[in-house]
Amino acid sequence: MRLLLVEDDDMIAETVLGAMRRSGYAIDWAEDGRAAELSLGNGVYDLVLLDLGLPKKDGIDVLNAYRKSGGAAPVIILTARDAVDDRIRGLDAGADDYLIKPFDLDELAARVRALLRRRTGQKQPVYAHGELTLDPAAHEVTKGGEVLPLVPREFALLQALIEEPTRVFTKAELEEKLYGWGEEVGSNTIEVHVHSLRRKIGAEQVVTVRGVGYRLKRC
Ligand code: CA
Repeated sequence: MRLLLVEDDDMIAETVLGAMRRSGYAIDWAEDGRAAELSLGNGVYDLVLLDLGLPKKDGIDVLNAYRKSGGAAPVIILTARDAVDDRIRGLDAGADDYLIKPFDLDELAARVRALLRRRTGQKQPVYAHGELTLDPAAHEVTKGGEVLPLVPREFALLQALIEEPTRVFTKAELEEKLYGWGEEVGSNTIEVHVHSLRRKIGAEQVVTVRGVGYRLKRC
């Protein structure tokens, strides 16, 4: 899962970036409204955390433009306690949820999980596919009831696949979901992660679609 944080306050940004990375998400940071628009133009984000009071372009304007251009990722706005009007304008402009600063990081993580589930039509908090289950909140994967010790990138890779279990992902799409800006991605990085994931969950679980990419086995 790849997130975008739009926030001009360094301290809040560092805290949120650290927490989201520890939760296993790739996350990029835009420090002003203009940078946010450029980033959103890439269309790679699964969810956006949007501060409203921003240099160069107001967060509401960024959100309006994003929705008008067809941008569909869920958006959580981050606002001050006394800014009721901003929250209402944000929701009316197409935000999906909001959090009032200062917010609790565990609550932020829970709201992110809830919106990502809704985005993929997932009603249950735990994903299930054949013998596999993946619990984003507990960060736990099981096969046949047995807990598997996945490292964060393996977990993120399986999460991407299990959220859309019939879709074939290209390597480029998986790189976008697993890595943020400035992270070194080698030419065979995704193959390496797929190889190590297969060793843990069973080689048959991840199918190579020749010339295209990877998907989960049908069940
Ligand atoms: Ca701000």
